[in-house]
Amino acid sequence: MKFEIEIRKQICQIGQRLYDKGFVVANDGNISAKLDDNRILITPTGVSKGDMTPQSLIVIDGDGNVLEGGAKPSTEAKMHLAIYRARPDVAAVVHAHPPIATAFAVARKPMVKPIIAETIVTVGEVPVAPYALTGTNQVVAAIEPFLKDYNALLLANHGLVTWGKDLTQAFFRHESVEHYGKIILNCQQIGAVELNSAQIDDLLKLRQKLANVDR
Ligand SMILES: [Zn+2]
Repeated sequence: MKFEIEIRKQICQIGQRLYDKGFVVANDGNISAKLDDNRILITPTGVSKGDMTPQSLIVIDGDGNVLEGGAKPSTEAKMHLAIYRARPDVAAVVHAHPPIATAFAVARKPMVKPIIAETIVTVGEVPVAPYALTGTNQVVAAIEPFLKDYNALLLANHGLVTWGKDLTQAFFRHESVEHYGKIILNCQQIGAVELNSAQIDDLLKLRQKLANVDR
């Protein structure tokens, strides 16, 4: 288990990477990490993710009440809390607007092409949740049906949210989905050979094996 200060620093580093990679602009995006069963560290609202300090992060409880911090928590805190409620194995959530994944979200096209072995193992399929007004309980209702079975979700006409057992895994899944989106787009120009069902089964077994090792 990492010390809280290390988790605070890591959230800032991931914020910087999201900003540098162009996954967010201005004050877009939000990141959170579970400190314990009733304390969640989350980015404040109205702050550039490329310009955060460890002290600027907010601690909230499972109902969204502020426990520590001098600013308002992210307006998407409800979305983060819904993910932690549905997935006790999850300890970190990353939400941003990476341009390719967000284009899939706008087109409402799930990323389900079985073309890249690595993505099938690390992320799996990426469905699209129905459109919901950001920051409202509508978002919670829209995402809930997808939380148990997936690790990444496109939010219709909005962006991408990924989760994982720690911040690194949640962030890597964000990067992987964006990369996967780029490859799908490129394949639309030159064609693609999809993996067959036996090959996919082998990858899913590998995914299960790796998940067990992780626990
Ligand atoms: Zn957003």
